[in-house]
Amino acid sequence: MTPSAPAPSTTSAQLIDGNALSKQVRAQVAERTAELSAKGFKPGLAVVLVGDNPASQVYVRNKVKACEDVGFHSVLEKYDASMTEAELLARVEALNNDPSIHGILVQLPLPKHIDDHKVIEAISPLKDVDGFHIASAGALMVGEVGFKACTPYGCMKMLESIGMKDLRGKHAVVIGRSNIVGKPMAMMLLAANATVTVTHSGTADLGAMTRQADIVVAAVGKRNVLTADMVKPGAVVIDVGMNRNDEGKLCGDVDFDGVKQVAGYITPVPGGVGPMTITMLLVNTLEAVERLATQQG
Ligand code: NAP
Repeated sequence: MTPSAPAPSTTSAQLIDGNALSKQVRAQVAERTAELSAKGFKPGLAVVLVGDNPASQVYVRNKVKACEDVGFHSVLEKYDASMTEAELLARVEALNNDPSIHGILVQLPLPKHIDDHKVIEAISPLKDVDGFHIASAGALMVGEVGFKACTPYGCMKMLESIGMKDLRGKHAVVIGRSNIVGKPMAMMLLAANATVTVTHSGTADLGAMTRQADIVVAAVGKRNVLTADMVKPGAVVIDVGMNRNDEGKLCGDVDFDGVKQVAGYITPVPGGVGPMTITMLLVNTLEAVERLATQQG
């Protein structure tokens, strides 16, 4: 089988293991971090959490641990939900000016009285390692240097890991059009030369779209949005969704058991896109330092 053309599956799809791929990429990040640190450029990431959303607390803990594992300097700033927008903006400004910090991540969602958009736009584009700033979205749109949103960037790495880097001739269908996943995903696939269709809640016949796809990326947030009858044999299926099933277990948007009988490759949930998202946050932070190191000779 040539890596760029997954063969139609007659048995069961091959798994794209996000944990294993993450381990490889993080080992490379750790190696480069050691080299940069020795030259006085130790990567630093600040993670800011406001309030006590339980899911956010887990995400933030995982991000800080991932930083420590690769040798980054990491700072976790936790604030009470009563923090005002002005106070948070002042903290962001202080981190923008802190030379030991190269990446700033403000964990979303923020409490209702704080405008997410205003806070994200206050982060320096040079430290926007989540890739959510308008400058990062614009850079992706026009193909200039910026930071790529971590989740779709992780999906692209997963495609690359199965030999699908140049997607010329491939049709990719993205389900979902959010600013943090669906839209940047479509842009990255397009930049890799795929022909891209973006679908959403207003799409009339989702299956008619996905059945044409060589690559399907599901980023909806609803279980079983993609079922076996909606997938072309041999297609690559990337499941971004994070949902809970009736037993409370984490699951994706894809009917995994059904779709794996038809697809050529499939990502599991958990252990697929999730770990790659954190890995790409590390990659972006390292990239921020690389740019600085190049600039400062
Ligand atoms: P979002 O902002 O809620 O966007 C969901 C998108 O799905 C919207 O564009 C919506 O269409 C579309 N949609 C809803 N129902 C649909 C349907 N029946 N058919 C087709 N499209 C439909 O969600 P998000 O932030 O992009 O996240 C999507 C999922 O990915 C969530 O489960 C989230 O938890 C997960 N996620 C995972 C990671 C990770 O690291 N693994 C990272 C980020 C997000 P409209 O625009 O028309 O409303």
